[in-house]
Amino acid sequence: MVTGPGTSAADLLAAADRGSVRAIARLLSRVEAGGRRAAEVAGCLTGRPRRGVIVGLTGPPGVGKSTLTTAIIARLRAAERRVAVLAIDPSSPFSGGALLGDRVRMGEHSTDGGVYIRSMSSRGALGGLSAAAPAAADLLSAIGFDDVLVETVGVGQNEIAVMRLADSVVVVLAPGMGDGIQAAKAGILEIADVLVVNKSDHEGAAVTVRDLKSMVALGRTGTADPGAWRIPVLSTTASTGAGVDDLLTALAAHRDQLAAHGGAQRRRQQRAEVAVQAVLLQEIHQALTSAAGQSQLERAAASVAAGTTDHHQAARDVLHWLLAATG
Ligand code: GDP
Repeated sequence: MVTGPGTSAADLLAAADRGSVRAIARLLSRVEAGGRRAAEVAGCLTGRPRRGVIVGLTGPPGVGKSTLTTAIIARLRAAERRVAVLAIDPSSPFSGGALLGDRVRMGEHSTDGGVYIRSMSSRGALGGLSAAAPAAADLLSAIGFDDVLVETVGVGQNEIAVMRLADSVVVVLAPGMGDGIQAAKAGILEIADVLVVNKSDHEGAAVTVRDLKSMVALGRTGTADPGAWRIPVLSTTASTGAGVDDLLTALAAHRDQLAAHGGAQRRRQQRAEVAVQAVLLQEIHQALTSAAGQSQLERAAASVAAGTTDHHQAARDVLHWLLAATG
């Protein structure tokens, strides 16, 4: 089937199910564009089983996330699993399609039909989190990828929010970044299910592992639940593949633990919350930036400027209009 701009989401989905890379790309573009087209895709996915395991990988630039992702892909492919990678790029508001850079970075897998790699912006129209990342991961899971690897840069608030879409989150660090670890501490403990010290062939790797282990132990103080997940601290050398099997074993253990304690359902709920919230923010933004929204804002601002009302009351008035307009 030849797909074009007018092809329905249902037809694209059927083509994607048959393995059409082009259809997958088009579906993701619609998800990324947001609005009516993204809503149509979402509607077609309701009730479909989600087979994929969504794993988030995050950490500062240069620690070896892409190299590690490549090594993980190799192992998953050896086990004949279909793998999708979403590289979330925080810098560009529009990335539109698979970036050449990622194909080059993960070059050895770029011609493998069982691997799909795509870059996507983390920023929505407002500069806040885009609805696209959780929706894209969900789409890839629903069209039959066994593993969806989501890679982001950094452990700032935005990355933490992106990582809420994952079943398991791997925070990747490297030796010799003591201050960086201090700064990232709160964020790391908040999101990590597995901690990895990559570049374990570099000097100081053992010290970094020890520091992180004590950090995890301190973070656990007061956690009485004996069934609580213990964040493992692992060493890898992504460039040779050393330690990657242990990482996959730890991820499988985390998945088992989630399944045993109702965590998988909690993560799904969390993921849905991120997605719903992102769409809400998008709709509010769209309504406010429309011509009607702009004139509402201007009218409200004029009342505040004239001293006939205050900005809180004015905001509530706009909100009332918004609810009527978007309902
Ligand atoms: P990212 O920015 O976190 O995705 O990092 P990259 O995967 O692009 O890796 C940054 C650099 O570190 C590249 O030159 C890699 O070849 C190198 N690198 C990645 N993993 C290792 C490792 O385990 N040991 C060593 N020595 N170098 C590595």
